[in-house]
Amino acid sequence: MIRAEILTIGDEILYGQILDTNSQWISAKLTEIGVQVIRKTSIADRSEDLRKALDEGLSRASLMILTGGLGPTLDDITKPVLAEYFDSEMAINEDALGLIKGFFEKRGRVLLEVNRLQAMIPLKAEYLQNKMGTAPGMWFDAGNQRAVVSLPGVPYEMKYLMEQHVMPRIKERFSLPVILHRYMRTIGLGESFIADKIKDWEEQLPAHIRLAYLPSVFMVKMRLTAMGQNPEALARELDAQIALVKERLGDHVYALEDVEPIEIVYRLLKEQGKTIGSAESCTGGHIAAQLSSLPGSSSFFMGSVVAYSNEVKKNQLGVSDQTLSDHGAVSEACIGEMAKGLRRRLGTDLALASSGIAGPEGGSDEKPVGTVWIALADEKAVYPRKLNLSGASRENIIRATTLAALNLVRLHLTGKLESRP
Ligand code: ATP
Ligand code: MG
Repeated sequence: MIRAEILTIGDEILYGQILDTNSQWISAKLTEIGVQVIRKTSIADRSEDLRKALDEGLSRASLMILTGGLGPTLDDITKPVLAEYFDSEMAINEDALGLIKGFFEKRGRVLLEVNRLQAMIPLKAEYLQNKMGTAPGMWFDAGNQRAVVSLPGVPYEMKYLMEQHVMPRIKERFSLPVILHRYMRTIGLGESFIADKIKDWEEQLPAHIRLAYLPSVFMVKMRLTAMGQNPEALARELDAQIALVKERLGDHVYALEDVEPIEIVYRLLKEQGKTIGSAESCTGGHIAAQLSSLPGSSSFFMGSVVAYSNEVKKNQLGVSDQTLSDHGAVSEACIGEMAKGLRRRLGTDLALASSGIAGPEGGSDEKPVGTVWIALADEKAVYPRKLNLSGASRENIIRATTLAALNLVRLHLTGKLESRP
């Protein structure tokens, strides 16, 4: 594997005046393409320290990425030190000078001699055009298949140069491993629960396959990354591993690709030619927003009633007084009547309903904040589900309820909901 080091230059990093975010960003970028970052170093604006760091870095790594110290002032030592280190004359780069002149003209400022100096680069360096600022980037061939890259310290300039010039050159000039990703998206399980369920599977993963958990509200995205030389063999290995782990998590796995739940629900509704609507209390229209979020939703999504008050639940959906007084709005009885009422009202094949206590006020001992009922009705039955989302914020309760409702549709359309009249 190609080994890289990142060297950030600047007194202010060592004084604690700024946080070195450059090296973190660069590390992530390099890791993504299979370059192994073996060390990150920060040094002061001192020529001697830079020379030493270059010697040491090049003895361990074949790629060094430097940021900072490329400005026009005396304390910016990176360029002169690199010129000397690579035994190279400096000369004005006309393209860089043109960009610098344009930069100053646009801002109505006079170009000083120090600014012109920014267009000077060592002749042995490959010039990396910087459209975001006045300091060009530089790529030095350091012999023995090694390279030193120098970039400005300003983060958005550094990122621009990495993306436009450095990453493509690394991919072209170094032999990188093949990297394949597989995604498995789960819904309704917590990260620690999953981790516990798949512990022994995770432990048997070979070293060249890595698992990452990417949790969000009510969902956990899992990413398997394999690194190697043979793409076909890697793909087979990944598929086999995914099949093993998928079995452990059963119906909670909603996709083996990186898509949101609504995407799956959308495909199922379209394939099966089913229509749907929603009767929403605690989600206040969030289910409707999801159901109408993708282009072409009009073929299955008919509409919704946001039935926030009991009056609307009664008058628009036909929930009975009896149900409301005996069980309250957050109850299995009420949610069933809401779903059935909406289905009748809109004439859809399916109807979703939500009713719950999103908080932060309004909870009781019997029904604490986070108590939520959802239901799906079809022509034969109602499928109610109780959710316990206590401890979550209002925003997250709404989000989780919305996702759980979509998940009910998915389970139903894939034949996994038991009927409960
Ligand atoms: P300039 O031509 O703008 O002076 P430069 O290459 O000389 O660029 P520096 O002077 O080292 O870069 O840094 C410019 C600014 O960029 C710093 O004030 C700081 O805000 C930011 N910066 C520098 N290094 C880093 C770093 N490692 N991480 C995050 N920000 C940085
Ligand atoms: Mg500077």
